[in-house]
Amino acid sequence: MTIYLDHAAATPVDRAVAAAMCEALTDPQLQANPAATHAAGEAARGRVEQARAEVAALIGAAAGEIVWTSGATESNNLALIGAARLRAGRGRHLVTAASEHASVLAACDELERQGFAVTRLPTDPMGIVEPAVVAAALRPDTTLVSLMQVNNETGVVQDIAAIGTLCRERGVLLHVDAAQAAGREAIDVRALQVDLLSLSAHKMYGPKGIGALFISRETVRRVEPVLVGGGQERGLRPGTVATHQVIGMGVAARLAAGRRVEDCARLVPLREALWAGVSRLPGVFLNGHPQRRACHILNVSVAGIEGESLLHALRELAVSSGAACAAESAEPSAVLRLLGRSPELAQGAIRFSLGRVTTAVEVARAVEVFVTGVERLRRLAPPA
Ligand SMILES: *Cc1c(COP(=O)(O)O)cnc(C)c1O
Repeated sequence: MTIYLDHAAATPVDRAVAAAMCEALTDPQLQANPAATHAAGEAARGRVEQARAEVAALIGAAAGEIVWTSGATESNNLALIGAARLRAGRGRHLVTAASEHASVLAACDELERQGFAVTRLPTDPMGIVEPAVVAAALRPDTTLVSLMQVNNETGVVQDIAAIGTLCRERGVLLHVDAAQAAGREAIDVRALQVDLLSLSAHKMYGPKGIGALFISRETVRRVEPVLVGGGQERGLRPGTVATHQVIGMGVAARLAAGRRVEDCARLVPLREALWAGVSRLPGVFLNGHPQRRACHILNVSVAGIEGESLLHALRELAVSSGAACAAESAEPSAVLRLLGRSPELAQGAIRFSLGRVTTAVEVARAVEVFVTGVERLRRLAPPA
């Protein structure tokens, strides 16, 4: 039996979420197009709006500030491309970090091809993007800053509140990718002074293929759609709203809001036990900040061992060597290279990510598998 320690890549769908989705797919009263004006459409629409309020409540937003998307990738694309294009008259410069998710970095690449300028900030050796570094990168023509709250590889938490304050002072929009933060860190879009914020259901025990973009009331006229079609979602994201997906995300958001504190209180000691266990071996390093990180991720580098062989030795564990989306490439993680890790250490990195279903027994077994695996590989190929 594989021990699942890859919750940063996908979380299992909560039973209550699956039950609500099942009902949405089978209840004859919920099959109409939620945009339809008849009573059947109204019934579906009622449930869509209830879910919108639940997602809004998770982040301290109003229901009318939530736009449904297919996931955080699409939310990030809509936030960056949609806001940059509509504000192009004011300026054509964006600021982000080199440690962002591929969907943010690729959206920036696309904007550069369209004539925008992008500054990709480095992190410090612990993975932090210092607010002062962000402030120094702002130019008179900067219209948008995009930074993630919790890094998907290391779990490092950025000081979004401080960055929110300085963006507000300078009249620059702030977009936050909160896909890993939701259900783990407190998120209050007003307190943090965030204008746009991306969420993904499958990172918080909801289904894959659904996400949301928060667009603050004040910002909504500063974003243009990326897709064209019907007028759904106030024209910002046309296409028939997927009732069952949305209902699933609503339940997931309600559960995340209710369980966040207790979930994390349970995960922190498990994550610490995992670290205590694997760091008994020499040559095992923690990637990221020792304190400022989310409760679910532990990323370690192992000296003298090739990443591929290590993953093979750990095949009893579902873990990854970097971001799931980069799993196809043999390139060492760019996020870890930013921390100053050598290509070798960045390559021999393992990301463990824990979740609601993780038990202390599984963590103990994971330590055992890791320690015996690393010791065996080191015996086979002793460090030079
Ligand atoms: C998973 C993830 C995404 C992409 O979300 P999808 O819903 O899979 O498109 C974006 N950003 C971060 C930080 C993520 O962890």
